Amino acid sequence: MSAPLDDLVRRLPDLRLLTAAGDLEHYGRDWTRRWTPAPLAIALPASVEEVQGIVRWANEHGVAIVPSGGRTGLSGGAVAANGELVLSLERMNRVLGFDAADRTLTVQPGMPLEALHNAALEHGLIYPVDFAARGSCSIGGNIATNAGGIRVLRYGMYRAQVLGLEAVLADGSVLTSMKGLPKDNSGYDLGQLFIGTEGTLGVVTRAALRLHPKPVSEVNAFCALPSLDAAIALLGLLRQRLGPLLSAYEVNFAPLYDVMAASMAMPAPLPAGSPVYVLAEIQGSEPERDSERFAEVLMQAVEDGVVDDVVVSQSPREFRALWDVREDANRVLFSMKGLIGVDISIPLARMGAFLQEAETAIRAFDPDADIYVFGHLGDGNLHYQVRTVDPAAAYGIVYSGVAVAGGGVSAEHGIGLDKKQWLHLVRSDAEIATMRRLKTALDPKNILNRGRVFDLDPAAFAR
Ligand SMILES: Cc1cc2nc3c(=O)[nH]c(=O)nc-3n(C[C@H](O)[C@H](O)[C@H](O)COP(=O)(O)OP(=O)(O)OC[C@H]3O[C@@H](n4cnc5c(N)ncnc54)[C@H](O)[C@@H]3O)c2cc1C
Repeated sequence: MSAPLDDLVRRLPDLRLLTAAGDLEHYGRDWTRRWTPAPLAIALPASVEEVQGIVRWANEHGVAIVPSGGRTGLSGGAVAANGELVLSLERMNRVLGFDAADRTLTVQPGMPLEALHNAALEHGLIYPVDFAARGSCSIGGNIATNAGGIRVLRYGMYRAQVLGLEAVLADGSVLTSMKGLPKDNSGYDLGQLFIGTEGTLGVVTRAALRLHPKPVSEVNAFCALPSLDAAIALLGLLRQRLGPLLSAYEVNFAPLYDVMAASMAMPAPLPAGSPVYVLAEIQGSEPERDSERFAEVLMQAVEDGVVDDVVVSQSPREFRALWDVREDANRVLFSMKGLIGVDISIPLARMGAFLQEAETAIRAFDPDADIYVFGHLGDGNLHYQVRTVDPAAAYGIVYSGVAVAGGGVSAEHGIGLDKKQWLHLVRSDAEIATMRRLKTALDPKNILNRGRVFDLDPAAFAR
């Protein structure tokens, strides 16, 4: 062991510390698999006090720390490729309390999202943030990435669910803002500092999360549509007529659905070949009335030529089956070799122009490129994948197009290591300078997730 690690063991003799090659490999990478893992060691604290001890030790030795959750991140945020200490929160994974009056659950950061769903259900409530990595991703990682998912349209991003938060700062002190009040304008809301900042400002050790009433009715519909304009028109119609009943609105563009349908384990709900497919979901409290209203709007959309074909779930089994079709996009895309993927947000009004211009520009240098697009259309969030002979050129085209359209280079996955060089396209110099000032103020030795989101040295910042 190295001298700093010897010192860590001396200071925290009960700390679980892993240094075996297999563990370094396992904990040193995230879902991206793009960087070669090379951490110094893996620390698995069991308490806030151990987290504090680790951070103090890191500060004294100048060792960089990578806070680590489920490592399902898609931007390299939890990758340890440069001798960092991985600080895995996976052993801190318990429910700490439930407040029935305020409907909040207080949890530790290592708890998987799916376990949080189940814990909420035990109290007859739901935790509404959901996405395909639910079984592996952790609350700490979700908070650090301000995760989104499939029901942002109705419930908002993670930020909207966090009512209280505790974090260990880079100097080892604990900042506790755990009152869990829905309204509290008594000075700065410091908990916000740790939401979406990708572990660069503190290690999240506790959170009070907002639960919601369990919907009595849930119905979804899978629609084939002639165009993106039609999908945006249907979204407007559903919002206008159903208001807050609409809980999800997902899109899948040709040819992705066709590729999925060719190898689906389940029967394809609609024939392949349409330009656009949408999965719309409602959640309500009056099962018969809600289904009727949903069906009426969909029927009108068919009559108006907005929707070409539609299948509506008639049972919980069919409801789940339609969601499985949506999530099947992950199976198909993650199995493709050589695919690059970006997670972007685009104003709906400019999405059509963006898609057309990006495809034209990519095909200009690679006529055979494969382009697969799906995402959370209700939030203006697209997952845009390209298989091309020149990935660098494709990245440049897509991100420049995003900037021109007034969008974001990361809608929900975060910047991490992956998108640092593109941040300046969508954030002003003043914004990035303020991010740097915050980071320097809270973490002067640059211990926490060094080199994520931006580099501290402006000269190292790619322009
Ligand atoms: C199949 C699939 C589907 C996905 N779908 C979505 C989706 O729809 N929406 C979405 O938002 N994301 C999605 N993701 C991305 C990913 O699941 C999320 O970013 C998730 O929030 C990451 O959680 P994690 O615990 O795996 O974090 P990790 O990957 O472990 O870490 C992510 C970041 O958080 C930091 N971090 C982790 N724990 C802490 C902590 N306790 N304190 C401070 N910082 C911490 C890490 O350092 C890193 O910067 C998907 C991923 C996969 C593989």
